[in-house]
Amino acid sequence: LNPEIYILGSSSATPTRERHPSSQILKIGSEKIMIDCGEGTQSQLIKYGLRHTGIDYICISHLHGDHYFGLIGLISTMSLMGRKETLHIIGPPQLKHILDLQIMHGGMTLKFEIRFYPTNPARQEFILRNQSFELTSFPLKHRIHCTGFLVRESKKERHLNMEVMQALEIPVSYFKAIKKGENYTLPDGEEVPNERMTTDPEPCRSYAYCSDTIFDPEIVEYVQGVNILYHESTYMKNNEERASLYFHSTAEQAATIAKMAKAGHLLIGHFSSRYDHLAPLLEEAREVFPNTDLAEEGEKFVMSTASQVLVHS
Ligand SMILES: [Zn+2]
Ligand SMILES: [Zn+2]
Repeated sequence: LNPEIYILGSSSATPTRERHPSSQILKIGSEKIMIDCGEGTQSQLIKYGLRHTGIDYICISHLHGDHYFGLIGLISTMSLMGRKETLHIIGPPQLKHILDLQIMHGGMTLKFEIRFYPTNPARQEFILRNQSFELTSFPLKHRIHCTGFLVRESKKERHLNMEVMQALEIPVSYFKAIKKGENYTLPDGEEVPNERMTTDPEPCRSYAYCSDTIFDPEIVEYVQGVNILYHESTYMKNNEERASLYFHSTAEQAATIAKMAKAGHLLIGHFSSRYDHLAPLLEEAREVFPNTDLAEEGEKFVMSTASQVLVHS
């Protein structure tokens, strides 16, 4: 199963007629992760035929409204629809406080647990791991506490070489352990190294999300070699000063980070409402990093096994 990214919104600060604020869904393994949840995200889910059931993880990069004002609405709907499953929310520590207040003063009684994981704006941190993925956060430089997220597929099982397995008459009950990388001891005591019985699994694919940030080459080490990098691109380079002033990046700067990190593919988003047409931003980025696409809402990006990205509208 190839990981897929659905773009629900990619406008900065204020929504426009065509664009909603930031939110994405990453489907990976058997899990769905929501990354940022700007105002209107629930409506966007409905519009694009995505269900909120099965979203067990929500990552919030920072507490500017265009990245989380949709969250309490979504939680409220999940509650009204009778959700029972634990919801894992990852974000700045203050977010827990905000949600607690909203839930308390709204008299909401949730029938599901919210498990909260605070992010750390000072350094890269491991957040959690499950069968499908592992998640880390890393610092971004913005006007307030802000982190990016790196999601990597969990380590996969090795492939059995059935010819060797049969020749050595290895019982089926050992297959599971061998797929995990263990050696096998023959009845005569001889140890068979794992590499003789298995071949490498497919590489683990990865996705990095760099929400609002000033151009910061320190990001590169956190996102080195990712298959797909999302990086904000609020402005074009003729607004570079303005970008720095507000701790945002230009399309060219986003592409520079992708190039330095040797990313496979770049998605740019978080576009300023001043741009009616986005083609010039795309062009600017492609001059530095040709494998770039616009993270426009309604788009779906697939990480294929050949680590080539397929784009669907
Ligand atoms: Zn923003
Ligand atoms: Zn922001």
